Amino acid sequence: MRQPLVAGNWKMHGSRAENASLVSGLLDLLQPGKRAEILLCPPFPYLMETGRLLKDSGVALGAQSVCAESQGAFTGEVSAAMLKDVGCRYVLVGHSERRQLFGERDALVARKFVAAQGQALVPVLCVGETLEEREGDQTTSVVSRQLEAVLAVTGVQALARAVIAYEPVWAIGTGRTASPEQAQEVHALLRGRLAAAGAADVRLLYGGSVKAANAASLFGMPDVDGGLVGGASLDAREF
Ligand code: PEP
Repeated sequence: MRQPLVAGNWKMHGSRAENASLVSGLLDLLQPGKRAEILLCPPFPYLMETGRLLKDSGVALGAQSVCAESQGAFTGEVSAAMLKDVGCRYVLVGHSERRQLFGERDALVARKFVAAQGQALVPVLCVGETLEEREGDQTTSVVSRQLEAVLAVTGVQALARAVIAYEPVWAIGTGRTASPEQAQEVHALLRGRLAAAGAADVRLLYGGSVKAANAASLFGMPDVDGGLVGGASLDAREF
């Protein structure tokens, strides 16, 4: 049984005051006994304080990125051990904004994945194609390449301890979401690959302009185990 997971990626948004009001709004709306796991990923400077605000709530804390190196002269970077130390359980790796804007390639994403698991953090590996790749019929080859790049380094046992988020780049922050059928098609492909390797139970999230109005139809698909939510996670009611 795969427990649904709904993760909020705050990206580079928020302030101490805004975060406090967002978290308190969320905690007020959370219904005890609901079976989905909730995860919040604030920017680095707010991790500790958000962790304090979430204390005893059952909502998990995660980071948006991690350094592939364990420690040393890497100015501006944050290690997996530091994330663990401030209470993170999860970390995003390979988000398309990291890949596209900060030049993170498959090999580096795989190293970050390994670094995260080295500190018992659960990596949320993001994969997804650009619009050009989709229109060029390359969706399958792109997401397969992104997945295999990690599998080749970590092996399937490690992947079984991770979460994968399918996030078509053309749907992120654009308001243009994949249809439930488009999401399911890619999730089924990923599930098939994982099942063939003996890791059928990995949770597969969909991300890309998820909001209250489309979440139920997306999350209702058989291989969609929840979502990675960007913009809509900044509004407690919408999230
Ligand atoms: C994301 O940042 O992972 C994301 C899916 O963003 P949005 O929901 O805003 O498209």
